[in-house]
Amino acid sequence: MSEKREAPKGREAQISNIRAAIGIADAVRSTLGPGGFDKMLYNEAVGALVTNDGVSILRDIDIEHPGAEMMADVAKTQEATCKDGTTSVVVLAGQLLAVSEILLTRGVHPSDIIRAYQEAGRLTLSDLDGDHWLTDVDIVDIAKTALRGKAAEADLDRAAALCVEAAEKAGGNLDRIRVVTQTGGSLSDSAVHPGIILNKAFVSDETPKSVDGPVLLLNGGLEGLDYSQVQMQVTDVQQMHAMQQQEHQILSDAAAMVAGAAEGGVVFVRDRVHEAVSHYLHQHGIPLVTSLQVSDMEALSRLTGAPIYHRIEDVKDIPPTAAVEERNIGDLRYVTVDGEGAAVTLLIRGATRSTLDEFERAFDDAVGVTCLYMNDQRAVPGGGAAYSHFGRLVRKKAQDTEGLTARERMAIEAFADGLEVIPATIASNAGMDALDVVMELRSITDPRRGLYINGSVRGIEDMVDVGVVEPLALVEQVISSAVEVTLAILRIDDIMGRRTE
Ligand code: ADP
Ligand code: MG
Repeated sequence: MSEKREAPKGREAQISNIRAAIGIADAVRSTLGPGGFDKMLYNEAVGALVTNDGVSILRDIDIEHPGAEMMADVAKTQEATCKDGTTSVVVLAGQLLAVSEILLTRGVHPSDIIRAYQEAGRLTLSDLDGDHWLTDVDIVDIAKTALRGKAAEADLDRAAALCVEAAEKAGGNLDRIRVVTQTGGSLSDSAVHPGIILNKAFVSDETPKSVDGPVLLLNGGLEGLDYSQVQMQVTDVQQMHAMQQQEHQILSDAAAMVAGAAEGGVVFVRDRVHEAVSHYLHQHGIPLVTSLQVSDMEALSRLTGAPIYHRIEDVKDIPPTAAVEERNIGDLRYVTVDGEGAAVTLLIRGATRSTLDEFERAFDDAVGVTCLYMNDQRAVPGGGAAYSHFGRLVRKKAQDTEGLTARERMAIEAFADGLEVIPATIASNAGMDALDVVMELRSITDPRRGLYINGSVRGIEDMVDVGVVEPLALVEQVISSAVEVTLAILRIDDIMGRRTE
């Protein structure tokens, strides 16, 4: 919202940044946890929007306020590094800022808050790697935790199994996992394919449905002259005829070259292909797939090791081979390209475009955390258990450390309050009394206990026993990013103060 504003200074700048950042947290808060809603949200700073995914909101809106922008950036970082936890990071940072605003109004100096938060943050992160967490975590539970409260929940077991299968086939390498969505059918028709699935069919119905031969990748098109682009003066029919002859010759030369390089195999062309060429390939029994995306071409190249040629004249060697097939999956035709490791495709089916979009977002998170866990093998209990454990730890630190001033103690305790926003928000989004839950969690000592929500079942449980666990790396990133952005926003006053001196 582009109201002209005088750059605010000092405390005013700080409060205005804090408020804008809290506004962002308020906007996504209601989506956190398994009871989280899809909502239309309205916020003065950012306007109205409909969402069910924290980072999607923040990606799509035009955020002008620097404080709000920093929050949106932190969600993007979370998305880029972990895929999941985007709502958590924003909600946590928002709460750390909300409690610091109270401290500021009580006259605590920002630099005292910054110091206390730094220390409490360090304490939390160093404890995170302790051995009081878990031993045997089922990787399926990691996927399930990320999928809970999302659209795919109805088919939780199936969806989690698909995520784990994709992650395992890709060796935990998220970059190798492609997600293809297709309307029609249901989630149970979804599948993981070792290799690539293209939402395409062979150009001709009469070429073989399945080949195992050279894979020719052409980056351009194989078209004739584009008459609309060419200025010609054709004076007689014969001249026209000669030109067409010439074009025909060029195309059949190209077709012969393509057929020569791809004999027994298949041709993938990024752009369109002239009738004459595709007819020639058809006659030679070589399947052709056209109009592909650059990302598809690149994935095909990675999977098969076949180079991407820009012009057919550049093809000197017979390209590497792969098994390529046109199949019916459900009621639709796809082209599958087999290969191990370099690409894995998760084909998700769903009744309508909107359910599919929701599945896709949920799978995106869940496949991401499953890979994250595969690569690190460390997990922590979910349902706010880790956050309440840290809250207790930090609160105890504030009480036990000797020689702290009242303000320092207050600031450290504020950090502990901030951490409790995660279980509190999960609770209130599930219709529970947040304060009751927070108080109960404060009184326990077992770090594995957190808030478990499953339909109408809700209460404090051992989160490992109920299978709600998340990668340690995820929680680590949430806390470190939330602290970082909080400190950055709190520091803005200092910078402006110095400049205007
Ligand atoms: P984010 O964008 O931060 O991942 P989510 O809406 O996915 O937000 O919510 C994640 C939070 O929900 C995590 O703290 C996770 O531990 C918690 N959670 C997931 N499943 C359950 C459950 N069954 N009971 C309680 N909390 C859960
Ligand atoms: Mg999540």
